[in-house]
Amino acid sequence: MPPIDLDVSAHEHARRLRAGEYSARALAEATLARVRAQEPSLNAYITVTDDLALAQADAADARLKAGDAGPLVGIPVGVKDLLSTKGVQTTAASHMLEGFTPVIDCTVVERLNAAGAVTIGKTNLDEFAMGSSTEHSYFGPTKNPWDLTRVPGGSSGGSAATVAARGVPISIGTDTGGSIRQPASLCGILGLKTTYGRVSRFGIVAFASSLDQAGPFGRDAEDVATLLGAFAGHDPRDSTTAPVPVPDYTERFDRGFEGLRIGVPDSLLEQGVDAGVREAVEQAIATFASNGAQVKRGIELPAAKAALPVYYIIAPSEASANLARYDGVKYGFSYPDGRNAEEAMAESRGRGFGAEVKRRIMLGTYALSAGYYDAYYLKAQKVRTLIQREYAAAFADVDLILTPTSPGVAFRIGEKVDDPVAMYLNDLYTIPVNIAGLPGISIPCGMSEGLPVGLQLVGRYFEESTVLQAAHAYGSVTDWHERRPPALPGA
Ligand code: GLN
Repeated sequence: MPPIDLDVSAHEHARRLRAGEYSARALAEATLARVRAQEPSLNAYITVTDDLALAQADAADARLKAGDAGPLVGIPVGVKDLLSTKGVQTTAASHMLEGFTPVIDCTVVERLNAAGAVTIGKTNLDEFAMGSSTEHSYFGPTKNPWDLTRVPGGSSGGSAATVAARGVPISIGTDTGGSIRQPASLCGILGLKTTYGRVSRFGIVAFASSLDQAGPFGRDAEDVATLLGAFAGHDPRDSTTAPVPVPDYTERFDRGFEGLRIGVPDSLLEQGVDAGVREAVEQAIATFASNGAQVKRGIELPAAKAALPVYYIIAPSEASANLARYDGVKYGFSYPDGRNAEEAMAESRGRGFGAEVKRRIMLGTYALSAGYYDAYYLKAQKVRTLIQREYAAAFADVDLILTPTSPGVAFRIGEKVDDPVAMYLNDLYTIPVNIAGLPGISIPCGMSEGLPVGLQLVGRYFEESTVLQAAHAYGSVTDWHERRPPALPGA
């Protein structure tokens, strides 16, 4: 048998599996071998789940044989290590949860399993998904496959890096302020954050509950659409999921650019965008326009400029409440030598959490404290409403809003890690979208300094199909998404 080509999309693997060109087991074995060979360079995984993958692959082969093969049967997938996996260590990249083995699968993983996907491993992230570079991981940073001295973005950096490096064709991330879209952009792949309430958070380690959403990474719009379709939808175990039907997310692919009205908030883009990113995004805008999309320049989103400060009140506030559960008693890291309960708790938290997580807990505790609550948290919630209204008004005239995903390309490891504000500024264009709860995608749209540039498209609530239509149409007239990083050892 010739070696399996691991560089193809998930939908191409699905076709070849169904045609009997190779088995799910052979695909899993080849994938595990490549992932293992790439790990010394990338560090994209916290845990590689060989046994689980092979067992799932055998089950997939049985389904293929029985003719019961949906699009994800036998397809290798990487899962961010923030998602609970039954019997498989789930760490949130924190010393606090090292060795923690959940007794349940989260809903997203449960649905992926039901769809027949093959879990290759749990991917690296910033601790508790707090960060934009995957440098804040207890298990060491993930490297960007385009340049191993640079970050892959974050917090879902492992999931993005392994897809970009052709380790797995698809993966799962989570996005609270940009953690799917920004690493997708920095690694040159696609990543979609859904409407808040589209995807169940049940069983996903909580960061900021009013903002967190899990979502798909892939190398083309079809894979992203298919993967999302497998796990989106109402879940009785997460009361914030919406009882909105899940469409076939490829439903609008045959329309091309037809009917797309795209707004560009030029004044939002005035500060801080690198020249190379700006140029690539301008080219992409021209491509949309010349292919029949209607482009409206200069739409106004003035309050969106306040999204970053609003986020850094709301997200840490929710995080400080969510992370109170790690007390060294119930589960997670416990400092054994405490003289009394209070000291044991303080030592467990002091030693179990990393610096960025502690910074967020302190920020959030402060913002929620008596006397400051009204000035910070309440004010932030009011501005959040203004931002939501502003987007609603903008969407009266356009279907999509286009910006760069990130103001720059992948930066060097260590460059921003000691400067939290510089790190936070990476999410200037992604954070407003979480504040409003809207769906947004990052798609590759060019190269600058030899590194990928990403374009963000934001749609109306629950209109992921329109976002994906635009991503698919753009991908059918450009080949940025087909660019691949230099081959790593073993690949
Ligand atoms: N970079 C942002 C933060 O550190 C967003 C992280 C995320 O989306 N999980 O909070």
